[in-house]
Amino acid sequence: MTSLPSSAGVDERAPAWNLDLLVGDKSVAGNGPELTIPDPTTTKTLTTFATADLSQVDAAIDAARRAFDEGPWPRMSPRERSLALHRVADKLETLQATLSAGVILEVGTPVALADTLQTDLAVQTLREYADRAAEDGTVHLGPHFVPTTSVSLVARRPVGVAAVITAYNFPILLAMRGMGAALAAGCTGVLLPSPRAPLTTLLLAEVFSELPPGVVNIVVGGPDVGQRLTTHPGVDKVAFTGSMAVGAHIMRQAAETAKSISLELGDKSPAVVLPDADLESQVPSILMGYLANSGQSCGATTRILVPRSRWDEFAERARRFIEALPAGDPWAPSTAIGPLIRPEHRDHVQARVDAALESGATVIGKGSVPDLDGWFMPAYLLGGVDNQAPVSRQELFGPVGVLLPYDDIADAVTTANDTPYGLHAKVFTTDLEAGLKVAAQLRVGSVQVNGGGFRPDAPFGGMKQSGVGREYGVWGIEEFSEAQHVQWAMA
Ligand code: NAD
Repeated sequence: MTSLPSSAGVDERAPAWNLDLLVGDKSVAGNGPELTIPDPTTTKTLTTFATADLSQVDAAIDAARRAFDEGPWPRMSPRERSLALHRVADKLETLQATLSAGVILEVGTPVALADTLQTDLAVQTLREYADRAAEDGTVHLGPHFVPTTSVSLVARRPVGVAAVITAYNFPILLAMRGMGAALAAGCTGVLLPSPRAPLTTLLLAEVFSELPPGVVNIVVGGPDVGQRLTTHPGVDKVAFTGSMAVGAHIMRQAAETAKSISLELGDKSPAVVLPDADLESQVPSILMGYLANSGQSCGATTRILVPRSRWDEFAERARRFIEALPAGDPWAPSTAIGPLIRPEHRDHVQARVDAALESGATVIGKGSVPDLDGWFMPAYLLGGVDNQAPVSRQELFGPVGVLLPYDDIADAVTTANDTPYGLHAKVFTTDLEAGLKVAAQLRVGSVQVNGGGFRPDAPFGGMKQSGVGREYGVWGIEEFSEAQHVQWAMA
């Protein structure tokens, strides 16, 4: 096991942070308020730096605007843009280990996940967008005869300047799935990471230096910076990943200038365990469906629905798994559960668990807390609640799940859908046909039957209050594109 640094000084595993903003072709120090970023595993300060003031945000938008209105990026051929994006992906790939270290330090993501979902998937996602960017997306409609004979095509045009605003939990993946799609569509933009985990995103300035000046700009700041980006008339599109509360603000903020919006929000995803499921082999993946990244994942399957007849068997297996779950230093390859991002977030999640227990919930499984200073909390699986309990309805964004019994499959489907959210679901069964039948009845943007994983070429996004629009592949690029009908009369 890698030991944590003993000194209060700089962690020798930390990348050489870049603390400058990227505005046009310049790296500039922020003129705004200072921000201190702690390591959630040790609570020690990683660094302190100055964020953007609003004039720097305006300058970043102006740079993106100029790059869009006058620069080469939107005017390149699809093939040229595709090649340029592959060069960006090459650079991202060479930085992967550095970015992974950055994410471990500022988010507390366990290394196994940092190396895969946080960074490797980011590279694959950009490569997929780069491949798709080579297709110009034109649809030829052929002749039309009223009132005169004409021919039409529908061209795919970039929507313009995009503000890509990301959540703290997967900074590199979210930056790439948003900005990568924008770039593939021919847009330019400004990237705003969460002020709780901005450091690794600032390292991307080096990666984007492959592109013409102003195509990608990076700023860091608080809600005032986000507000400026989402109200500024120079921004055409807002692509936001984060909480429902901020997403609703963004819709209101962007309404005045009628911006195109896509929102990737939260969830209270169900895992539906069908009566024939193989619990011996599936319980670990059912539970890791909500415990990965210490529960700080969208689409975490925090509501596990089991047939009443298999409740005891599931609960016993879950108890054993959770009690044995390795929690601790995220640098250790065996660690499954790391810290939460901030003490107030950890305290909030723990308070929701305590409130549920006071209202009669029971502990089915409770994990350990390592002997480290960081913001750790035990993993929980709770029972004794129904689907209406606050702990079953609110997204907690921590390592907390509930086990809900059902009587028949219709009851399971009704309970699974009884949530304001609709991002993701999982179904577990030994009967694929039965699993696919249940999947078709779930009001969610993606369903996995017996496992699977993120595919950069498949859409991801939410129904209901989990969001608007889709990410990844051609669906992601469409979010940054406008359909333009071009028609010409035939002589
Ligand atoms: P958050 O809503 O607190 O912050 C997200 C971003 O909003 C940050 O970058 C912040 O700078 C920005 N922001 C804050 N106030 C703003 C304002 N007034 N105007 C514009 N921007 C503003 O979210 P978080 O805590 O960082 O992330 C957790 C949430 O993100 C969870 O709800 C989770 O489910 C969701 N999430 C969803 C997906 C998905 O794909 N659906 C992926 C990751 C995270």
